[in-house]
Amino acid sequence: MKAPDFAYVRPASLDEALALLAEHGEDAVPLAGGQSLVTALNLRLSAPAVLVDLNAIPELVGISETNGIVRIGAVTRHRDVGTSEIIGARLPLLAAALPHIAHPAIRNRGTIGGSVALADPATEWPACCVALDATIVARGPEGERRIAADAFFLALYTTTLVPGEIVTAIEFPVPGTDAVWGFEELARRHGDYALAGLAATARRSGAGLADVRLVFFGVGDRPMRATAAGAALERGDIKGAQAALADELDPQDDPATRAATRLHFARVILGRVAGRMLAGGSRGGGHHGG
Ligand code: FAD
Repeated sequence: MKAPDFAYVRPASLDEALALLAEHGEDAVPLAGGQSLVTALNLRLSAPAVLVDLNAIPELVGISETNGIVRIGAVTRHRDVGTSEIIGARLPLLAAALPHIAHPAIRNRGTIGGSVALADPATEWPACCVALDATIVARGPEGERRIAADAFFLALYTTTLVPGEIVTAIEFPVPGTDAVWGFEELARRHGDYALAGLAATARRSGAGLADVRLVFFGVGDRPMRATAAGAALERGDIKGAQAALADELDPQDDPATRAATRLHFARVILGRVAGRMLAGGSRGGGHHGG
C-alpha cells in the first residue's frame, strides 16, 4: 500500500517547526526518523495532512554533558546514542540497550525522541529513561515543559505530550560512582520487539543494593516500574522480587505468546539482572563510569 497524499515541510529552526504545527493543528505531525511513522502512513493507519520534518533543525541533534546532566537532542539517531563516548562513559545502560533496538538500518535512522514520543511499550529507550530518572524536555505553544520520564508515559502509544508539542531533548542525571545497572531482553529473534525486557539501576550499599529502579518493557501498556520487586532486591531477596512481579506487571495474551509466559520471562530476566547487580556487574550490567 502507498501513503495517502500529504504536504511536506522541512523547517530549519525549532520556532518555525512549532509555528507550522500550531498553524495546522491536529492535521500536522512531526516527522523524525520515519521508521514508525512512514510505516503507519503506508498501512494507512495514520493520514496527517502535513508532515513537519524535524531533520534540518541543528539544535535537536547531539549529545552533551554539563553540570552532571547528559542532554541528548531528540533527533539524535539510535546508533549515535549507543555509540557515543559520553554515553559509554556516563550512561552505559543506554549503550547496552542499543543492539536490542530493531536492526542496523532502523538504528541508523530512528531517533530517541521519536521513540519516546511514540511510546511503544515494548521498546527499550522509554524503559531506560524511566530507570535512569530522565527528564523529557518538550516545547509547544505554551513554551517549554520538563516532564519526569516516570510521569511521561501514560498508556499504549500515549504520553503527556499535547498536539503541537515537540520533544526537544532528553536529559539524564549522571549516576554516581556507586551506581550499578543491568539490562536484559528476551525476543523471539534478536532485534524483534521484546517479549520481556528489563532496564535496572541501583546504588551499591555495603554488600547490597539501595535505590533500586526496575523498569520492565513488553509486559504492560507502558514502561512498568516494579517498586515492590525493587524493595525486595534491596533486602537481597531475589525470589521475593520475582514473586512480586505478579502484581506489578500487566502482560497481555497475544496470538503468539500467553501473558503467563511473558510474566515467566520477566522473572527469568530479573533473576539474571539481579544476580549480576548484586555481584557487582558483568555482561549487561556493571558500574557507571567503569
Ligand atoms: P518517527 O517514525 O518519525 O515518528 C514516530 C512518532 O513520533 C510519530 O507520531 C511522530 O509524529 C512522533 N515524533 C517523532 N519525533 C518527535 C518529536 N521529537 N516530538 C514529538 N513527536 C515526535 N524500536 C525499538 O525501540 N525497538 C525495536 O526493537 C524496534 N523494532 C522495530 C522493527 C521494525 C521492523 C521497525 C520498522 C521499527 C522498529 N522500531 C523499534 C521502531 C524504531 O525504533 C523507530 O525508529 C522509533 O519508534 C520511532 O522513531 P523515529 O525517529 O523513526 O520516529
